[in-house]
Amino acid sequence: MNSIIYAQSAKDLASAWENGHVSKIFPSEVRHADLKKYLGQLKNIGLKVGEVGKSFGGREIYQVEFGTGATRVFMWSQMHGDEPTATSALVDMFAYLQKNRDKKWIKEIEEKLTIRAVPMLNPDGAELFQRFNLQNIDINRDARALATPEGQLLKKLRDEWSPEIGFNLHNQNSLTTVGRTSRQATISFLAVLGNAEGKSNEGYFRNKRLISVMKLALDDFIKGNIGRYDDTFNPRAFGDMFSNWGTPVILIETGALHGRDEMFLTKLNFVAYLSALKALVEGSEKKMNSSIYDNLPFNSSDRIFNVIFRQANIINFNESGKSFMADVGINKERRRARMPAPTYVREIGDLTSYNGLEEFDAREFYLIPPGGQLRIGLGGEFLFYKKERKIDWTIKDLKKTFPPDAVFSDGKWIKGAKLFAKK
Ligand SMILES: [Zn+2]
Repeated sequence: MNSIIYAQSAKDLASAWENGHVSKIFPSEVRHADLKKYLGQLKNIGLKVGEVGKSFGGREIYQVEFGTGATRVFMWSQMHGDEPTATSALVDMFAYLQKNRDKKWIKEIEEKLTIRAVPMLNPDGAELFQRFNLQNIDINRDARALATPEGQLLKKLRDEWSPEIGFNLHNQNSLTTVGRTSRQATISFLAVLGNAEGKSNEGYFRNKRLISVMKLALDDFIKGNIGRYDDTFNPRAFGDMFSNWGTPVILIETGALHGRDEMFLTKLNFVAYLSALKALVEGSEKKMNSSIYDNLPFNSSDRIFNVIFRQANIINFNESGKSFMADVGINKERRRARMPAPTYVREIGDLTSYNGLEEFDAREFYLIPPGGQLRIGLGGEFLFYKKERKIDWTIKDLKKTFPPDAVFSDGKWIKGAKLFAKK
């Protein structure tokens, strides 16, 4: 019964996002200047937007506010500069709330909640598309030392306001998987306990119910691709310490879904936040069964690869011309959407029990690694030659003298893709 009600509204929220989202570019392409434009739009439609501090590099950090209610909800995104999805989703959420104040449930949100959010807590890191701030400190390991201006600000915003709920919004590795499956964890949740002893409180149980609400809402779009984040207490991490200081935190980690772009992920976040806020003010959260959260499989890593070349005939021509057959698992580094993502060899050998997001049968090919030696951690351009060709691997200018049949570079085919087309 519950699931039907939630599914319906989740679909409505998704189409509302599709018809009216204000974030127009891929989140990974959003620079500080783009965020300012978004926030200008929010201000223009009447939202409260204010500068609350500056980054180490002197960039402005903003807070957006909606509602005048008694329950204080605090959300922050992109404390890791290369984890941008939630920043766009927050902008879309606020725009939607403000434009739909005549809807009954949004009026209720306005009257019962005050929502404050800091989108892009780490604007210097966002500019460089790196995890760390400009001091190269991980802000999410600075909750105790408070050596970063961004960490100090986050602590201050919490201490001055004592929010009752926190949303800590991140991105996780795109190869994170659900439980012991090969399914990507597109979204993972954690109700953060905030202590090492396992002491729980009502805020923690409420958060488990809210996550259950969000999980059901997202089932419409990514059923089977929702995981639970590892909950080891870390006294340096803000999510943990927020809970510890009295603001029970919900961690949302956005991963990826092969074949879907970043805008899809933004939409999922939008649906999740609004479903949670709606359930909170309508009281349906109280009736939610938190075992839905408890039953979420934990995240796994190292169970899938971006690319697997199956049974390639590898020739390390810098060592010898001898070929050997092995699977090669290749992963990509995290980059902005429009940047080429460097790849590197993750594992060589029997990968029969693993899956690749993309897999290519290389039985009929010689694989010539970058620099002539296939090594873990190294990447570059992989050359492929049909096995029937007679090649002198010792020749100096191999690529020129013997043009390869296919070339795989930066995670994609730049020549000969058709030779590896899926049957
Ligand atoms: Zn993160």
